[in-house]
Amino acid sequence: MKKQKLKVIEMKNKQLYKISKFAYKEAFLESQLEMAGVNQAQILEKMEKNAKYMRNQDIALKIVVAIYLAAMVILPVQVFNLLNDAIGNGIPVQWAIFAGGISFSIFFTIQLLFLLTFGVYISSGFFSGEEFKWLSTLPLSKKELHKVTLFTFFRTIDAQFFTLVLGFPIATFFTTKNILLTFIAIIVSLLNMVFSFGILAVFGEKLNRIMKNSDFTLTTYKRFFEKIMEKEYKIMTFQEYLKNCNSYRKIVIMRKDIDKRPSNALDIAKIESEYGIRTSYYFRVSDKGNDEEIIKEIASLGHEIGYHYEDLAQTKGDFNKAIKRFEKNLDYLKQFYPVNTICMHGSPLSKWDNKAIWTKFNYHDYGIVGDFLFDLDFNQILYLTDTGRRWDGYKVSIRDKIKQNIKHNLKTTFGIIDALEKNNLPDKIVITTHPQRWSDNIFLWYKELISQNIKNMIKKSFFMVRKGYFPLSQIL
Ligand SMILES: [Zn+2]
Repeated sequence: MKKQKLKVIEMKNKQLYKISKFAYKEAFLESQLEMAGVNQAQILEKMEKNAKYMRNQDIALKIVVAIYLAAMVILPVQVFNLLNDAIGNGIPVQWAIFAGGISFSIFFTIQLLFLLTFGVYISSGFFSGEEFKWLSTLPLSKKELHKVTLFTFFRTIDAQFFTLVLGFPIATFFTTKNILLTFIAIIVSLLNMVFSFGILAVFGEKLNRIMKNSDFTLTTYKRFFEKIMEKEYKIMTFQEYLKNCNSYRKIVIMRKDIDKRPSNALDIAKIESEYGIRTSYYFRVSDKGNDEEIIKEIASLGHEIGYHYEDLAQTKGDFNKAIKRFEKNLDYLKQFYPVNTICMHGSPLSKWDNKAIWTKFNYHDYGIVGDFLFDLDFNQILYLTDTGRRWDGYKVSIRDKIKQNIKHNLKTTFGIIDALEKNNLPDKIVITTHPQRWSDNIFLWYKELISQNIKNMIKKSFFMVRKGYFPLSQIL
């Protein structure tokens, strides 16, 4: 019985390794297409002509990297020969050992740095999330998925790995013809590999830990609305709220602005529907925020779809063009959902304020029953938004601003969770999130962290210029 069980586990690892082959192929193709940029069509054509095109590309790339690394491996062996000659010419042995030690540590440090940067570089390209989504559709446990990911990662560095482990002893053997030295080289090489992988693993684990306790991850998002539910708030869409705002005492309206990366929005929509929550998703109909399939899927999960309008900015202040664009995009979204609420996109870099369109037109004429800016009483409702990747972003936001009388000092999601726990928040709350910044993908998460901090700096200076703290005349 016991034996049989062991066999099953063994088979599984082999199977998982096989599965990782497909993940690797997919990821490699993805990275090649990404690198090709505008020449994608050419690559696809080549693939059609030659079924093995991608495989050959992969092998060629591995050979090039292996040759490059092999050349690097010769370095310490050359140093050894040089020093050997130097000792023969009468240079003190302790000096030779000292010089040798320094050059060898430089070599191994370079090797380690190479592995680290290569590892991080490859994983950022490869593990961008999209390619691995289909993996999660397989009937695998979390642990098994983790293994497949590790195997896939190993496939990306296998050529480097073997070159580094074997290259040094082989080079030592051919230059010195000394069995003992070759043996020592094998041991050193293996130890070095174990050490390098140890560092890679610790590094990865550390990043993972940082992620788990960080703000703006899906894990934190889950904790956030679990707390909202625990405190007996009724979570609802804007549409529902406009219909029955008095049917519950404690209400949270959850709004999502999909400015870009709609796949993040889908991740969140799925999590929410697992908890039986329905919230409002506002799509920009522009290149970055628009994805038909995703809009359809989010609507099918029971969430509300709305329009995140920016027509005045997009038409550079031409009101007539803007209202036509508004109608057209509204019709587009109505294919997927009976849209009847809207909210404005801030367009921080445009000089046009999108809400100004309603000084000339009336959204009620277009079947809209609610706009967040005009149809909620923010004297009674607390408005929380993650604008600027913080919850007190009203200090940096230019237009996404809602005039509210309820002030707060909540900066992080953990701060809000804490305030909820202590029953410090009012009965009616609107929570606006931008799904693009909520991610469990470490590379996207860092990208958002860095880019948002830069944006905040720019926004702040804009704000100060407008307020007259820095008169433009003084700067220009
Ligand atoms: Zn927006």
